[in-house]
Amino acid sequence: MKRYSAFAVAREGLRHHAGWERAWKSPAPKPSYDVIIVGAGGHGLATAYYLGKNFGITNVAVIEKGWLGGGNTGRNTTIIRSNYLQDPSAAIYEKARSLYEDLSQDLNYNVMFSPRGVMMLAQTHHEIRGYQRTAHANALQGVETEFIGPERVKELCPIIETRGPRYPVLGALWQPRGGTARHDAVAWGYARACSDMGMDIIQKCEVTGVTQEGGQVTGVETTKGHIGCTKLGIVVAGHSGVLADMAGFRLPIESVALQALVSEPIKPCMDVVVMANTVHGYMSQSDKGEMVIGGGADGYNNYTQRGSFHHIEETVRALIETFPIISRLKMLRMWGGIVDMTGDRSPIISPTPLGNTFINCGWGTGGFKAIPGSGWATAEMIARGTPGPLAAEFGLNRFREGRFIDESVAAGVAH
Ligand SMILES: Cc1cc2nc3c(=O)[nH]c(=O)nc-3n(C[C@H](O)[C@H](O)[C@H](O)COP(=O)(O)OP(=O)(O)OC[C@H]3O[C@@H](n4cnc5c(N)ncnc54)[C@H](O)[C@@H]3O)c2cc1C
Repeated sequence: MKRYSAFAVAREGLRHHAGWERAWKSPAPKPSYDVIIVGAGGHGLATAYYLGKNFGITNVAVIEKGWLGGGNTGRNTTIIRSNYLQDPSAAIYEKARSLYEDLSQDLNYNVMFSPRGVMMLAQTHHEIRGYQRTAHANALQGVETEFIGPERVKELCPIIETRGPRYPVLGALWQPRGGTARHDAVAWGYARACSDMGMDIIQKCEVTGVTQEGGQVTGVETTKGHIGCTKLGIVVAGHSGVLADMAGFRLPIESVALQALVSEPIKPCMDVVVMANTVHGYMSQSDKGEMVIGGGADGYNNYTQRGSFHHIEETVRALIETFPIISRLKMLRMWGGIVDMTGDRSPIISPTPLGNTFINCGWGTGGFKAIPGSGWATAEMIARGTPGPLAAEFGLNRFREGRFIDESVAAGVAH
């Protein structure tokens, strides 16, 4: 595949852009593969990419029922951070964040990683203590964060009203190398690199069943027929329970709608990401100028990719207290995704009761930031047949053993 470069852009500019190749191929499925990954979201594609890059396994198919990146990967608000409390979480999220730093160079695809800094506002005394504790934990984990006071918050983000009527800003947990990336580009970049390694990305192909023999997976039934495999990776986020059901086991996962919205574009007014967890809202400004706003998850299980209207109303009402400047903005559009929530708000990267079948799910409201690290760890597990150090604590057995990785403070509402 031809490399993207400034020279290539100039050359194509001179010949009416006639020489660009398709970024990835759309082949018909082969009868069987060494590895099938179900789900062409960021996590599934990253898993395939690191299977090829780190382990030389390229006889791989990534099977997607819709279009690649059309699930939560293309619907999220793109916040990247690694300021989690527990050691296993900090390790995998920081691995992901550090891979984001040069992902564009690695994939030869601009994923627009923008480490503009993320602040999580402390608006109650309880939150101050919680975030100070996280800052201490992060210092021990080697994750660069800092607890800052309200003056510094105002300096970093002048449009914040720190003396808000209900919840004044008392400080913030600040991660200077957190930020955002272009969500579609992450999926597209991984897809292009996978296709370049000879892997098949098969879109518009729904997996409808999992075939097995003697307790081992043998393949999947799909809307394009049966496809055999030696190993199977299930990476379908909100539909994990559905796929697990096909494979004959159950998961401690609940699927709920989480939604977000964007405003009309305005001039640059905010160059950090701000999360206000007490009032359930967060905001950043996209490169196009839109204010990107996210709120809470629906309080009931569902598979509708919309979310309920009252959440939008609550989110916007809450954010206006902290950002009065947005009160006259028009909201352009809203959307939802189906997120997969575990009880301890930590992911599952695990072998399953079905032989040679592995699952990656449970990223809930905050898995975009984890895509490179999660793909790295899941590829290692599939290649070796057992989880490596990054994934070891995230097994399904933790729910049986009561060994939770409780991130409800870091991940319960926020992203
Ligand atoms: C509104 C919103 C805001 C968010 N904000 C953030 C944020 O700011 N930061 C952050 O880190 N995270 C955020 N998240 C969470 C993040 O988007 C997800 O954790 C992450 O994208 C999950 O990626 P994935 O690859 O696991 O899932 P997905 O991208 O959903 O991919 C799974 C794929 O599996 C496919 N699939 C399902 N069933 C089948 C089947 N039977 N056969 C074939 N294919 C199938 C789906 O079509 C889908 O494309 C947000 C999520 C939402 C919804």
